[in-house]
Amino acid sequence: MSASTDTRHLVVPCPFCGTVNRVDADRVADRPRCGSADCRRPLLLDRPVSLHDADFRTVIEGTDVPVLVDFYADWCGPCKAMAPVLDDLAAEWSGRVLVAKVNTDVEQGTAMAHQIRSIPTLMVFAGGRMVAQQMGAIPKAAVQQLVARAKG
Ligand SMILES: [Zn+2]
Repeated sequence: MSASTDTRHLVVPCPFCGTVNRVDADRVADRPRCGSADCRRPLLLDRPVSLHDADFRTVIEGTDVPVLVDFYADWCGPCKAMAPVLDDLAAEWSGRVLVAKVNTDVEQGTAMAHQIRSIPTLMVFAGGRMVAQQMGAIPKAAVQQLVARAKG
């Protein structure tokens, strides 16, 4: 990634209360907390962040780093196989790439809008637009390549 003095931000929904938070990408390692006065719980950015129909566009359009989204379902075996890979990458990329997941059974509007026909499907978004996608479970190195391609 090119050096820049511009502060980049991640937009993420709180896993506990759903409040959408805007986080300085350089401060992710400081374990930021939810900005809601009633919550203040940690945002858990070292693991995949669950996105929903209500916040998906806000997160994709407001986040300045690439966003990797795993479209999955709980009953899907290959999705379960992918989960540890995405957990690893979320921890490794903390603040540099936002790793997110969408439960296609629950968030049907988002799944339909992105024409998800099989799961798992991985999509990479940058600058609010989808720039790469891959259907089916793939190894960690292939996920890294998918995101590297998106960074140009
Ligand atoms: Zn919260």
